[in-house]
Amino acid sequence: MRFLECLRPRLLVPAVFDIDLDGLWRQGIRGLILDLDNTLVAWGSDFVSDRLIAWVSGARVRGFRLCVSANARAGRVKQMAGRLGIPGIANAGKPRRQAFQRALQIMGTGPGETAVVGDQLFTDILGGNRLGLFTILVVPLTSRDFVWTRIVRHPERLVLRALGLTRPTRAEGAGTHPG
Ligand SMILES: [Mg+2]
Repeated sequence: MRFLECLRPRLLVPAVFDIDLDGLWRQGIRGLILDLDNTLVAWGSDFVSDRLIAWVSGARVRGFRLCVSANARAGRVKQMAGRLGIPGIANAGKPRRQAFQRALQIMGTGPGETAVVGDQLFTDILGGNRLGLFTILVVPLTSRDFVWTRIVRHPERLVLRALGLTRPTRAEGAGTHPG
């Protein structure tokens, strides 16, 4: 049970757009570490929706520091983070602590004032919880996924059930497709 608690997200939302940014700010969160694939954009997609760009700028206007941290290759992370105008860490090796610590350094925020947003329990949520960050689980934007990720979706469901949690249903039109 103790191990399972390391996997408990503090918050479950359908998509990044459903995060109450003002509420996070009021609770003292100042930095957001953002997963890329199936959190900000569909897996492997390089389509950045206007809605996502608006969401990122809304967070920045509120004063949040942001950083993309992804277990994806450098070229893609650099390109996508660049289009969003925020720093990006590639090959993050989540759930290892290192990349989260680098993100904290880049943003200049402490663990207690930083949230992690991601779609995977065993990388985003486990890694964030290990460092004492505020962890937010989103519903994957698509069911398309890296083969390894597809394998862990079933145990993810079992863990959520054991924790007494249910994933919200996937958000409609969460910005996965143009138009
Ligand atoms: Mg992901």
